[in-house]
Amino acid sequence: MAGLMDGKKVMVFGVANERSIAWGISKVMHEQGARLGFNFAGETLEKRVRPLAESVDAELVVPCDVTDDDQVTEAFGRIRETWGGLDVLVHSLAFARREELMGRFSDTSREGFLKAMEVSTYSLVHLSREAAQLMPDGGSIVTMTYYGSEKVVENYNVMGVAKAGLEAAVRYLAADLGPQGIRVNAVSAGPIKTLAAAGGVKNFRGLLTLFEEKAPLRRNVTQEDAGHVALFLCSHMGAGVTGEVLHVDSGFNILGH
Ligand code: NAD
Repeated sequence: MAGLMDGKKVMVFGVANERSIAWGISKVMHEQGARLGFNFAGETLEKRVRPLAESVDAELVVPCDVTDDDQVTEAFGRIRETWGGLDVLVHSLAFARREELMGRFSDTSREGFLKAMEVSTYSLVHLSREAAQLMPDGGSIVTMTYYGSEKVVENYNVMGVAKAGLEAAVRYLAADLGPQGIRVNAVSAGPIKTLAAAGGVKNFRGLLTLFEEKAPLRRNVTQEDAGHVALFLCSHMGAGVTGEVLHVDSGFNILGH
């Protein structure tokens, strides 16, 4: 049976390990026939990413810390050399200093604020600009966001502001790149136990329990749940959708309190 992504060139930014949402997306895309490329941010993660990349026959594994312009330029140079073009960009990365993800939001430092915005928000703009040059006949871009952008979630703090910026960037990018046939969307996932989430956000366990107890579906979502929605958005099934933020959160966001 033909796969939804047969032969599509998909560059994935944000795999840290097998728990990463980016990995959930990659597995689903691979099952549907995508050709995959990956970045890794730093040597420690390279050791994790390479074997995973091999397991899905990745054609490209490149170093890329998104705060380093040279590395971004080199990464897209490698994509061009290897594939000549690109169909899908997956942006599944974020960062905030641990001390910003606890206590009062009003205590956020200038440095911590700028770092969170740089890595988590501006990187989408930068990577999309680079990717668009490799998508002359259209393509699709998807990023990952969280409900803390819409409502105040304890301890999410500066990351909520960064995600609000990210979701606005999705709309502006969708408007800019739409005439070129490039769609830009975000998946707003419920809490999932990953390196960044469990290691970063204070009392993350409490969020998992809250969703399990209160969300209409009474369960937490998985990396694969997020992956399937990313697949829908990036495949021809989502051909008419752009600038959208789609919740994959067992329905939690519809609740009032
Ligand atoms: P993860 O730790 O598996 O992935 C985070 C990734 O960000 C890592 O691969 C890391 O290398 C990358 N990264 C951080 N700083 C970077 C930099 N300077 N340059 C390049 N890459 C950098 O965690 P995850 O939960 O899979 O996070 C992926 C995305 O999903 C993030 O945007 C996160 O905010 C979002 N998200 C996560 C959850 C959740 O509960 N886990 C829910 C909704 C949205």
